[in-house]
Amino acid sequence: MSIFLNHRIFKTVSKVSSQMGVKAYVVGGYVRDSLLNRPSVDIDIVVIGSGIDLATRVAEHLDSSIQVKVFKNFGTAMFRFLGDKNWEVEFVGARKESYRLDSRKPIVEDGNLEEDQKRRDFTINALAYSLNKEDYGTLLDPFNGLEDLKLKCIRTPLDPEITYSDDPLRMMRAIRFASQLDFHIESISFEAIQKNAYRIKIVSKERIVDELNKIILSQKPSTGFKLLDESGLLKYIFPQLLELKGAEIKNGIGHKDNFYHTLEVLDNLADNSNDLWLRWAAILHDIAKPATKRFVDGQGWTFHGHEFKGAKMVPKIFSTLKLPMNEKMRFVQKMVLLHLRPIVLSQEVVTDSAVRRLLFDAGDDIDDLMTLCEADITSKNEMKVQRFLNNFKLVRQKLIDIEEKDRVRNWQPPVSGELIMETFGIEPSRVVGQIKEAIRNAILDGDISNEYQEAYQFMIQKGIELGLTQVK
Ligand code: ATP
Ligand code: MG
Repeated sequence: MSIFLNHRIFKTVSKVSSQMGVKAYVVGGYVRDSLLNRPSVDIDIVVIGSGIDLATRVAEHLDSSIQVKVFKNFGTAMFRFLGDKNWEVEFVGARKESYRLDSRKPIVEDGNLEEDQKRRDFTINALAYSLNKEDYGTLLDPFNGLEDLKLKCIRTPLDPEITYSDDPLRMMRAIRFASQLDFHIESISFEAIQKNAYRIKIVSKERIVDELNKIILSQKPSTGFKLLDESGLLKYIFPQLLELKGAEIKNGIGHKDNFYHTLEVLDNLADNSNDLWLRWAAILHDIAKPATKRFVDGQGWTFHGHEFKGAKMVPKIFSTLKLPMNEKMRFVQKMVLLHLRPIVLSQEVVTDSAVRRLLFDAGDDIDDLMTLCEADITSKNEMKVQRFLNNFKLVRQKLIDIEEKDRVRNWQPPVSGELIMETFGIEPSRVVGQIKEAIRNAILDGDISNEYQEAYQFMIQKGIELGLTQVK
């Protein structure tokens, strides 16, 4: 029997369901993940009877303080159990489903276990363990899901055409599981996805982006993106990314295919960061290359200003995809905007003032920016890659040294606007801003040090230059 069924939660479900005279099973993701040895904290329980009643009773037995959330319309209930882990347990009555053409919401009737397993998306997600006394821990596998786990195969229990057409979100899920688990999608299934890709439009953007984010968080996200592209789904869900595809040639000069380059950067980054938003920055770092592309005689292809334009494109893309319009979005914007700066530094002789300016602009996000830029090195020439990476190491060291010396990472002006106004007896005005900016530039350029005395002297001098008189 699976050691994953030893937990008190399962024992309690078993005892309580037996007292109630109903049959209960663990089904879906938890079973799949336990067989793959991937620990999971989401448990789905199917009961031949009322999921709500069983959830309520099980919760009482586990801990009387548990709050059960009931979704009457769906006939489901769930609760969190904070024990050794933060468990999330969901209960549903076994059901049979039938679909209409215009909606992914099925007509639902009560059913038996086998009918419930049939409504599930993939054979590997239709596996169930019995929690009943007489056969506790027995694997119930009517569609050979165990075999597919071994074959690393995504296959639907029923006709794939019908499965995907009924609920087009399953197309995204197929690709998500392929990317997350490094599985392949059975060929007739993939063909059915290609045929039904257009039906993704009946699925809400929120559900789509949930799956997309899981693809992005997988170990090698390019797998999922390539499948999204080949299936035809990408052009419905994220067309801007597809515009990066292709390499134009003029006068015998080509440029790199920015779609595949972007995916390579994303994979590189995935080796060094699990942060979803930094991964989004990798996806979007070159998004404005198509819009800024020019062929300049004697120079070849240029993408001038793609970092500025790209940063400007981020809010619209986030809002269309229903990604959050908050500080996460602003972080991605900032990364896109600054993504060329460390590269410039690593190619030239690094001056202290350039490093200071980068620290000032990137602030606390400097490490993420460096990680992104290191991932952006995708040359085929291994020597070149090594040279760049070494340069980046030097830049990182320089960032540390200069920050220690000058503390510009979270820079606060050593001389305030109030002091400037008092000193020269002036009201808030443009000249105050001019002096503040001059002080900041003098510090960043290394003309004065980042401290009060020097900044104060500099302020007096600057004010007099601008025709002001010191009154205090
Ligand atoms: P994860 O928790 O990693 O997202 P999961 O397989 O557990 O993966 P859930 O969304 O938690 O996915 O769903 C639990 C189970 O419900 C699945 O394993 C599957 O059996 C079933 N399921 C979920 N979504 C669908 C769907 N769109 N169509 C059919 N069955 C589904
Ligand atoms: Mg789950």
